[in-house]
Amino acid sequence: MKLLSIGEFGLIEQIRRNFPETEGVRGIGDDCAVIPQRSGLDTLVSTDMLIEGSHFLLADISPYELGWKSAAVNISDIAAMGGSPTATFLSFALPKTLADGWVDAFMKGYADISSRYGVALLGGDTTASPDRLCINVAVLGSCPHGTAKLRSSAREGDLVCVTGTLGDSAAGLQIVLNGLDRSTPEAQYLLGRHHLPTPRVAEGLSLASCPGVHAMMDISDGIASDLRHIMEESGLGASVELCKLPLSEELKSFCALQGLDAEELAAAGGEDYELLFTMAPDARPSVPYTVIGRMTAGDELVWPGSNRDFVGFRHLI
Ligand code: ADP
Ligand code: MG
Repeated sequence: MKLLSIGEFGLIEQIRRNFPETEGVRGIGDDCAVIPQRSGLDTLVSTDMLIEGSHFLLADISPYELGWKSAAVNISDIAAMGGSPTATFLSFALPKTLADGWVDAFMKGYADISSRYGVALLGGDTTASPDRLCINVAVLGSCPHGTAKLRSSAREGDLVCVTGTLGDSAAGLQIVLNGLDRSTPEAQYLLGRHHLPTPRVAEGLSLASCPGVHAMMDISDGIASDLRHIMEESGLGASVELCKLPLSEELKSFCALQGLDAEELAAAGGEDYELLFTMAPDARPSVPYTVIGRMTAGDELVWPGSNRDFVGFRHLI
C-alpha cells in the first residue's frame, strides 16, 4: 500500500510539494504555521489528532488524563516556537459506548491545563463515531513578528540542547503496554510523565528571547526522529552523545529494576514534550538545559562512541 511505503513524513512531503507556499507565511514543515498580522505579532497555529487504539487505549488512560494530554501536546507546539498559547478548538467523534461521566472527566482535565496556561477554548466540533474515539485539537498562539524559533534555523557548529529529562514518558508507556508494576514511586512518576505531560511554555519563551538560540522544536517522537527534522530543514547533520542524554533518577532506578535500557528509551522514546534546540556555543540561556551534541556539516545523525542507531516513533509504518 502506498501509504505504508512512503511513511508519514513522505506523505507530508508529497502534500507540501503539491501546494504552493504563501509568501511571508511559514506553512507546512514546522511545529506551527507562522502567519504575520498587521498588529506586529505573528499568529502561530497547529493541530494534532489523537486516535483511540493508535495514540491511546481507553482502558489505559483516564478521561481526565486524556483531556489534559490532548490540550498539552498542542500547547507544546506553541512552546516549541517560543510563542504564547492563546486559544484552542476541540473537536471529537465520540463512540456511543462511552461510559456516563466520561466526557465530564475529559473536559475537567482539558479545563485544568487550559486554565493553568491561560488558554481559552473558543470552539470545535462534536459528532458521533461509529467505532473509535477521535480527538482533534487546534491551537492558536502568538509571538512578536519574526521571533518564532524555526526548525530551519540551526547553524553548523551549534550545540544541540534539551530541557528536562528524556525517556520518562517512554518508560511510562512500557509500564502501560507490558502491565509492569505500578506500585513504586518511580513507576508513578513515569506514568505521570506519560499521561500528564507538561508543555514547556515558559522555557520556550525564555529561550526565544535568548541571543544565540537558533532552531527549536518539541520532542514528540523522540530525539532520534525529531532531531532529523531540524537537520533536514536546516540542511545539516548532527552528532549526539548517548552518555550525555539527561536521565531522571526515577528512570534510572526503574530501568535497573526492570532490565530496560534507559539510554535507548531516552534516544528513541517519544512524548517527552521537552524542548530540543540548537544554539551558538557562547549562548547563555537562563533556563536549565543539557548539551547533548553538535550540529555538523553533511546530513547524517551520528552517535559517537556507540555502534547503535536509533529510530524514533513513526506513524504509518
Ligand atoms: P508535530 O510532530 O509537531 O505534530 P508533524 O510531524 O505532525 O508535526 O507535522 C509536520 C508538518 O507537516 C507540520 O507543519 C504539519 O502542519 C504538517 N502536516 C501534517 N499533516 C498534514 C496534512 N495532512 N496536510 C498538510 N500539512 C500537514
Ligand atoms: Mg511539534
